[in-house]
Amino acid sequence: TVGMVALDSNVHMTAATSTSGLFMKKKGRVGDSPISGSGFYVDSEIGGASATGLGEDLMKGCISYEIVRLMGEGMHPQEACETAVNKLDKELIRRRGKAGDLSLIAMNNKGEWGCATNIEGFSFVVATEKEAPTVYLVTRD
Ligand code: ASP
Repeated sequence: TVGMVALDSNVHMTAATSTSGLFMKKKGRVGDSPISGSGFYVDSEIGGASATGLGEDLMKGCISYEIVRLMGEGMHPQEACETAVNKLDKELIRRRGKAGDLSLIAMNNKGEWGCATNIEGFSFVVATEKEAPTVYLVTRD
């Protein structure tokens, strides 16, 4: 999945995802990516989030919406991403004894951003009008 969250100078935000889905997926499978709230979610009054990973896991938490909701309660995007990913990961382990495959990016309408993953390594890019695109690599904590 390629996902993004963008903010313009008028404090309008957008979030999007584009994906081929899963390798060898069943015909007709719809993952999280096209589903607002799961694969992406945005509210210009708060911020936005975008997800990648296993759609069947990500959908169980409506995780992009959850991150925006947490930011709306005042959490920094980094804290919101970590909180939502850790909570859903724990829930998946409790339910079926196996971790999920969850990676999320988020940004609020002040341009503060965050990212959390529960896989070995996840990379993403931050680009602003003033700064050149910078690649970040995060690992699970
Ligand atoms: N989340 C996508 C899906 O499950 C796959 C991906 O992120 O690569 O369809």
